[in-house]
Parts: sequence; C-alpha cells; structure tokens
Amino acid sequence: MSALATAPVVIIGGGLMGCSIATDLARRGAAVTVVDRGPGPGTGSTAASSAIVRFHYSTDAGTALAYEGLHYWRHWADHIRVEPAGGLVGLVTTGMVGLIDRTGHAERCRPILDRLGVPNEWWDTDDLRANMPYLDVGEFWPPTRLDDERFFAEATGQLGGALYEPEGGYVTDPQLAAANLHDAAVAAGATFRFGSTVTGVVAASDRVTGVQLADGSTIGAAIVVNAAGPHSSAINRLAGLAGTMAIGTRPLRQEVHLVAAPEAPDPDRPIPALGDGDSGFYYRPDGHGNLLVGSVEPDCDPLEWLDDPDDLDIAFGPQWDVQTLRVARRIPSVGVPHDRRGTVGVYDASDDWIPVYDRTDLDGFYVAIGTSGNQFKNGGPVGHLMGELIEAVEGGLDHDAEPLVVTGPHTGLDIDLATFARNRSTASSSMSVRG
Ligand SMILES: Cc1cc2nc3c(=O)[nH]c(=O)nc-3n(C[C@H](O)[C@H](O)[C@H](O)COP(=O)(O)OP(=O)(O)OC[C@H]3O[C@@H](n4cnc5c(N)ncnc54)[C@H](O)[C@@H]3O)c2cc1C
Repeated sequence: MSALATAPVVIIGGGLMGCSIATDLARRGAAVTVVDRGPGPGTGSTAASSAIVRFHYSTDAGTALAYEGLHYWRHWADHIRVEPAGGLVGLVTTGMVGLIDRTGHAERCRPILDRLGVPNEWWDTDDLRANMPYLDVGEFWPPTRLDDERFFAEATGQLGGALYEPEGGYVTDPQLAAANLHDAAVAAGATFRFGSTVTGVVAASDRVTGVQLADGSTIGAAIVVNAAGPHSSAINRLAGLAGTMAIGTRPLRQEVHLVAAPEAPDPDRPIPALGDGDSGFYYRPDGHGNLLVGSVEPDCDPLEWLDDPDDLDIAFGPQWDVQTLRVARRIPSVGVPHDRRGTVGVYDASDDWIPVYDRTDLDGFYVAIGTSGNQFKNGGPVGHLMGELIEAVEGGLDHDAEPLVVTGPHTGLDIDLATFARNRSTASSSMSVRG
C-alpha cells in the first residue's frame, strides 16, 4: 500500500504546481487540502505565464523533464480525466527557434537533445533566412539598451543560424491549465480552500505537523508542500528553514509585452517561438496576430528583485521601449506599437534559475519552488515527480545521500532529481530564464 494512502497533506499554493501536485497525491490516496490566499486556481504568477513549451535546457534532467512535459500537454484530456466546465487547454505547435549566439547556449543544449532523442535541427544562416524571411539575421552582440549607441549601430556580422525544435510551441491559457488540474484534483478527492492565507508552519520534534491560517485556525498534516510560487521564500521562513538550503529563491518582477506579429510567409506554418540571446529577448505568437515578448536577462538589463511580491508595480517601465525596439530591430516589418499592451508578473527565481523539487531539513516538509520563469511547461510531470519523491522519502529513502531518479511515464527518460536538489552546486546553469 502507498505510504501516502490516507495521509493528511497540506499544499500551500493552488497555482499550476500546487494543483498538479494535489492531483497526483490525491490519486495516490492522500487526504489533500490545498490552501491558497487567492480567489481561485492559477491566479498567482501562473496567470502571467507566457506558457512556452520548449526542451533545450542546460541539464539532462531539465531537458528530460521538459520533453516529458510536452507529452502531458499532448495527452491532457487523458491526464485530467474529467470534463472541466471551462474546457481543456490546448497545445499549439509552432516550433521553437533558439538563435545561435555568443552565449553558447544552443551549442551547449544540442548534444543533450541528441543524447535524449529530442527532435531538433541545426539551421545555418541560409536555413534561418529561408525559414524566417522576416528576420534580420544580423549579429548585434552584445545585447544593449537604448542609452548605448551600439543599439542603433549596424550589425557587426551575421548570426550563425539556429537550433530548431519542431515540437516546441505554447499552451493556450496558463490559468485555465491550473484550473484543469484543480478540477482533476477535486475529482480525485482533494479539497481546496481559496481566500485562506498560511501564516505559520507548525512542527514538533523536527517534523511538520500542520499549518496555521490567518483566521487563527490550524490544519493538521503529516506532509506539507510549499508550492507558493514567488512567496516560496516567505513560506520557507515560516517553516524555520531560512539559511538551510544552498539554493535560495527570490521574487523577480517581469514585463511581457505585446507587439504585432509579422505575416507568416506560409499561412499553413505558424510563426515559430524565438529565443534571441544575441539581442536579449524571447517571443512567442499568441494565435491572435501578436507576439508576447519577454526578456532572457542579458547582462545589460537590471534585474528587478522584490522584497515582497505583493509590492508588484504593474505599470510598464523603461523595459517596454527596450524590448519592443529589440524586436523591431530583429523583425523590421513589425515596427514599434503605439499602445502599450502586455502583462507584468513575478518569477520565483532561484539562485541558478533551476527549480528546487526536494525534501527539506524539516521532515515531512517538501518544496516545489524556484520555478524561475521556465517551469510552466512542466506543470504535468512535476505532480508525478513530487508524488514519487514524497512516496520514496516517506517510505525511508535517504534522498540526500541517494537522489531519486524518476522515469518519465510517457518518454521513458530518466529525470535525476539531484539536478533539482536544494543543496546542489550552481555550476550547470545558463543563469537565465533559459534554465
Ligand atoms: C511573466 C512570466 C512568464 C513565464 N513564461 C513561461 C514560459 O514561457 N514557459 C515556462 O515554462 N514557464 C514560464 N513561466 C513560469 C511558470 O509560469 C511558473 O513557473 C509557474 O506558473 C509557477 O506556478 P506555481 O504554482 O509555482 O506558482 P503560482 O502560480 O504563483 O502559485 C502560487 C500560489 O501560492 C499562493 N500563496 C502564496 N503565498 C501563500 C500563503 N501564504 N498562503 C496561501 N497561499 C499562498 C498564491 O496565491 C498563488 O496562487 C513564466 C512565469 C512568468 C511570471
């Protein structure tokens, strides 16, 4: 019998991750309560997600997890197992293009994709031009801002080409994805308490025993999972875990801007999503004639850390001009929009931009945090991965000494959880949202 059967579990956070973990644990028989301060599922940072699905990451585990994630989206109805009133999200396959730039990210990721059997193509400059004729293939390295005269200078050379992932794309509605998982979790027996804020984590003899809520009540639990997104470090502090992990997490403000998409040269082939480390941005089409544009954290862009994610300023700042002009330089036909549209959100950024999916030094207290703007795509498999982890640790595994390896149910790929351990070294990351 599962070590989790009938175990009382509290999950802090009903975003994409909390709902996914709730689904998995409830299906294992646990008595799951999800507590979220918001009004419904996915109303936190998930709601602002660009929801891009791509597979090139700096680590084998990151790549394997993302490829596993794709298969959850492909088989979403089978995973959700109920017919949600709001409908199911869809996966739109556009392909994903990662420009070969001087960050070396494409060169670093390609052998991993090849090793794991993730389909990819290596385009040279002519291929890039042929496939994306609207793109200026000039090299502008290094990324600069508008107060740097190099921003307006001619290209210094040509891009070497691109790493193309034909199965890349995006998910139609990130908040609805969380709502779908909420409905699946409820069908499996989970309870959700929205509008409830966790204000304390209760423990006895080095083991968690529950959480305290703002109304003064307590919910007892044998297992508590921190899936509080950008509030993750605040929740870890409540659990007395500050300073106990090598990897920290912090809220980071992000702007995503909307610009007009170029005309697709072939109406049957959508504009692919793009990662442009040469200029410092990414975009993906939205299916309504626009591109969603975000940053890939080039060195010249200041990072807007927040002490408290609730202090988020939702007005666009100078980044709007920088990002939209970067896109206009790369795709001259789109020009610069007159109206400022888009969204402002918060990443739960970890020190090395790789998430932490792990146990903690407080027995029974687990974390699915530090998702760093790059884990939406893994919303399906993270539930399974956390379920396997919790089951194994509660069953006696010393995960710190012998990290669990989870095999992806769809791909058969091994996902070594050592990559996501709280006490890992930070050596293997791109140190940006690219993971
Ligand atoms: C602007 C932006 C763009 C992104 N783009 C991509 C992308 O293209 N591709 C990709 O793969 N990933 C992307 N991501 C990342 C991805 O969206 C996130 O990793 C994911 O949605 C995080 O989900 P979560 O459940 O961990 O966090 P959240 O959705 O933030 O959920 C956490 C929940 O915890 C609740 N909570 C917090 N504190 C408490 C408390 N004390 N008591 C009770 N409840 C509490 C909050 O109300 C919230 O609902 C992006 C993220 C952002 C912000």
